[in-house]
Amino acid sequence: METTYRQRRSRFKTVIDNETVERVKHLLLCAQNIVITCHVSPDGDALGSTLALCSVLRALGKDAHVVTADCAPKALLFMPGLRDVVTATRQPERAAELIAAADLVFCLDFNDLKRVDRLSPCFEQSKAQRVVIDHHLDPVIDCDVLISYPEVSSTSALVYIFLWQAGWTRYLNRSSAVCIYTGMMTDTGNFSYNSNDPDLYLIIHDLLRKGIDKDNIYRLVHNNSTQSSLRINGYAQYRVEFLCGGRVALLMLSADDLREFDYSKGDTEGLVNTPLTIPEVQWSIFLREDSKELVKVSMRSKGSFPVNLVCEREFGGGGHVNASGGEFHGSLTDAVSRLLEAIPNYENMLE
Ligand code: 5GP
Ligand code: MN
Repeated sequence: METTYRQRRSRFKTVIDNETVERVKHLLLCAQNIVITCHVSPDGDALGSTLALCSVLRALGKDAHVVTADCAPKALLFMPGLRDVVTATRQPERAAELIAAADLVFCLDFNDLKRVDRLSPCFEQSKAQRVVIDHHLDPVIDCDVLISYPEVSSTSALVYIFLWQAGWTRYLNRSSAVCIYTGMMTDTGNFSYNSNDPDLYLIIHDLLRKGIDKDNIYRLVHNNSTQSSLRINGYAQYRVEFLCGGRVALLMLSADDLREFDYSKGDTEGLVNTPLTIPEVQWSIFLREDSKELVKVSMRSKGSFPVNLVCEREFGGGGHVNASGGEFHGSLTDAVSRLLEAIPNYENMLE
């Protein structure tokens, strides 16, 4: 017999144990001033999860604010609620004030307080209760409630699951549904990896019923190239280097390249994924010389090759098994030397 939608919904699995959900609800009941934060250089999932949670908490009558270390990339400026976000680079005093006044803090989409960058001293000094909702491996963050599920593909999906278990999905409106969907979409490469869990599509079903236009969200996030971003990505791909018999790809952009192509933040979003479209490439590396002293490192992989391990050990960063990042303090030339020295230590992990 055909199952009805309602019956399917009732089979939506419980991910978070109910006692944890009740603890968070209790903390919320007692809280007056709530701050929600995410990692520096926020991506679709970091912003999607924080903005959606903030909207729901406001609908519940709470005084909630999203406070971030820095600004959203251009491609995400459409996200509803973004204008209300307090960004420490633009409003350092207001950010510090809100954090100092908070009695409850939600840390979303990161697992280490270092990831809030310039805001970490403010959060370290804060006496607020702290709830972490995240999907990165091995959290090392002090908190009162930890909702950590690396098997869930995005923090945005995890926030939806929390709201569903709390009985609060009715407080999600179309705008916050857009935020949740954006996070789910961007953290799964438009549902091309970590996206076989059928429950993800029950969530999307609900978000569509709330009125999101998922096709338009895709266009807003991805179809926003400029002449210079098209050229800089083409240039980097033209000069890609293949190592380890073609299983490793290395993309590089120097500070001079960035200047020449009139680079602006977000222009190379997604570039690191492109070499993985070659079946043989298992590990893709992108080094971008943001200044003569700082190289941003991004890595992606297929299968079990752990880029989080490489980023953690070699570039003081981390992330997920297949998508990680870090930094190198020095020039691009030195970063490349460091990388080439390190690669032989990981080559045996390639298939
Ligand atoms: P991206 O390459 O897009 O900058 O980052 C991919 C993922 O790696 C992010 O979602 C985040 O989880 C992680 N990540 C990026 N940069 C860093 C970093 O500097 N430190 C840590 N711990 N994780 C990072
Ligand atoms: Mn995420």
